[in-house]
Parts: sequence; structure tokens; C-alpha cells
Amino acid sequence: MRTMSVSNSADPRSLQSIDPVPIKAAKAEITASHRETMDRPSNSDQAESGQEAANARTAVYHELAIIEITLPLAPLQFSIEPKDWAKLTAKRHSTGFQGLEWTIVISKGIRTVFPYCSFGFKRHHLKKPNSSRKRPLFSCLAYCRFEDCKVEAKVTLESLNTLSAKLVLDNRPARHYAGDRKSRPVRASDRTTLGERLQTEKPRAMHVRDVGALSEAVFVSGCRDLAPPVSVLKNVSYDVRKSRRLHHNEIQSLERMLKLPTNDTSVLKNVLLRPKGVMLWSLRGIQIYQERCKEDIVYLDATGSLLRSQKSNPPFYIYELVVRHPKKGGSPLPVATYITCDHTTASVTYFLMSFVTDVKRSHGHRVVPLMVMCDGSQVLMQSISFAFANRGLTDILAVYFRIATGKAVKTDWQVPVLHRCLSHIMKNAKEMCKKHAPQCYALAMHIFGHS
Ligand SMILES: [Zn+2]
Repeated sequence: MRTMSVSNSADPRSLQSIDPVPIKAAKAEITASHRETMDRPSNSDQAESGQEAANARTAVYHELAIIEITLPLAPLQFSIEPKDWAKLTAKRHSTGFQGLEWTIVISKGIRTVFPYCSFGFKRHHLKKPNSSRKRPLFSCLAYCRFEDCKVEAKVTLESLNTLSAKLVLDNRPARHYAGDRKSRPVRASDRTTLGERLQTEKPRAMHVRDVGALSEAVFVSGCRDLAPPVSVLKNVSYDVRKSRRLHHNEIQSLERMLKLPTNDTSVLKNVLLRPKGVMLWSLRGIQIYQERCKEDIVYLDATGSLLRSQKSNPPFYIYELVVRHPKKGGSPLPVATYITCDHTTASVTYFLMSFVTDVKRSHGHRVVPLMVMCDGSQVLMQSISFAFANRGLTDILAVYFRIATGKAVKTDWQVPVLHRCLSHIMKNAKEMCKKHAPQCYALAMHIFGHS
């Protein structure tokens, strides 16, 4: 713990020009331990002249700076939307509102005039409909949720005609540690609204966009009410997906989905219970595969980094059959996906053969791909041999040997080319060389490159 005087920790010029309520980083005596750094540097860093002064100030700014926000002296006014108020009053009890929806409405109103503190609510009071006592129709007390910020907000509503609420801020000034982030918990209708947005947008992309939409002053204040953290967004997204399941049990839900009438866009093709797995492809995917595999490479790859491993299950892998986009620069197109925790030749062969059977069923004849590329794992190579060439890996190598030595028979030319990806070979070579020849690593890799 140490005490230090900090000045100009944020750029007052740029901030004052942005907001009606100016934010400034005035001189402050503070006591603080280490604070995390700001994630977006201030423009003042570039404006400062003198390298030494800049270095000293940046260090202070990163470690101990406090953002001081000047509160307006006069009470502020904000309007409550009539439809929001109507919704709230529909669920009132004698002297208060039911649930937490009222906190969302009031904090939304406060943000329109003072968006720099993230408020939590202590209590509220609603005047009884027939009461003759002289008190506001509605009043509540809120406090800033930032550590060591003492700001309190009193909100009162006097008249139903205008629905204009009065906001009085006390315990000035507001002080937030630079680097501190606070956002209101996402509850009630906010959760539903956010969940709907998350059906079409990834949590991280949404967070980045929302943070980018904040004004410079709000960004510096650390208030993230309008840009909740990615972890919260992920939870909301998961809750929404969970609520849309056909059954609370995941497997039973998948089984019910299988029984639904299928159409061109249905992707769920098979659900395996033990070991767990699902196979996914669509009719459109089959059409794309059938067109592309006759003239281009088909890729089969597995990745284990997309699903979090659970204690009760072995790790899940995603096997994917991918073709290149017909247009140059287009992203690759996955045509069939298999998610499973069973990483055996039998399991992957079953997946590929099920897909090949569906392709045959929809086109009336067998479609043999020109070339299949994989990372060189035995499981993948064996499965590709069985599914696309109807023979074992040893037999397929014998076919290639006959072709290479000029002794091929007619049927040998109907076998697809099984290609091992060079980047995977070199990656394996790198690991091998590092392990077995760490002293002569460069030489070992050189020999690999020429062999
Ligand atoms: Zn505050």
C-alpha cells in the first residue's frame, strides 16, 4: 500500500468536449494497491511531450490512476417511457413493485443523463393509490457499484402526467479506479432481449461491438452497463439455447429432434448414446460435396479444442469433412460433421460410411472423390480407405504402388488419392526432431525437408 498524488491521468480535453457532464481526472490523494492496466490507451499519451514525463505519467496511469467524475450540482431530470411504467404498475403490490424489472427501467433512465456510474438499488417505495400523505409517487435509492465510489442516487417521481423523474446525486465526486469495470447484472427482460440478439451474434463479437459503441467518457469511467462481459453473454446465450430444448435432458431432446419431420435444412442425422455422439449434415451439404469432390480435394480433419472436456466423459472431438469454396477466396465449406468421444477407426468409419450412403441415396449412384486429404493419423487414413475405397489401408497402398510402378489395372484408377497433409507431416517432424535431436535440430529438420 502506498500513497501517491496523481494528476492528468486521463485526457480532460477530449472528455470535456464529448459529454454534457464533464469528466476530468483532477488531482487526487489516493491509497491503492496495484491496479490492472486500461485496455484502451488515452490520447493524452501521445499529446505529452518529453519522454521522461510521459514514461512517469504512463506508469502512474497504469498502476494507480483514479478517474474522477464531476457530478452535476443541480438535480437532473429523465423521462420514463409510458409503456415501461404501465408494465411495472401492472405488477405492483401495496407499496412496491414485484420483481426486479423496475431496477432495469430506472437504471435505463439514469443512464440517459448520467451514464458513468453503474448503479445497484437499495430500496424503493411506491405511494399507495388512495394515500393522502405528502410523498412522491415513487422514490428509490441507488448506490454506485464501483469499489470505493461513494456516489448515491435518489430518484423521485412526482407526477404521472409527464413521467419525468428527478435524479439527485450525492457524495461527490465519483471516483473509479482506472481499469475497474462494472456492469449491472443482466436480469429479467434484459436477459430476454440480450438472448434474442445472441441468437444471431457471437458473445465476443457482440461485446467488442458494444464496447466500441460507448462514448469515450463512458469508456474511461469503466461503466459497462451497456457492454456486459463476454462470460455473462455466454451464460445468457447458453440459457436461451437450453430453454429452447425439446426436453430438459440433452439426449432426450436430441432424440425428439430426430423424430421431427425432415426438410432440406435439417442437419441432425444420427444420435449415438454410448459412446455419445451426433452426426450432422444437410441435403444442401450433400449437393455441395457431390459437386466439389469430383474436381477438388476433400479434407477430413479432427479438432478437440472446440468443446470443453467434462469429468464424466472422455474428451469430445469434432470430425469434419470439408470442401473448398468454388470461388477463390471463399471460406471452406463443412459438408459433414461428427461430434463424438469415441476416437476409433470403427467410429469414424461408421460416420463416413453413413455420409457416403446418404450421398448415394440422394444421387442414386456412388460418388467417388478425386482426392481426400487428412493429417496422417492411422484412424483417419484407415477410415478413409474403408469408406471411400471399400478396402483396407494396406490394400490401398498396394494400389498406389502398382500405379507408381506402371503395373496398374483398370480398377486401380477408381481409387481416390489419399494424401497426407504436408504441414501436419512437418509439424510432427518438428516435434520428433526437438525430442530426439535437440542439439542438431536445424540439421535434422533440413534432412526432413529434403527426404
Ligand atoms: Zn461511481
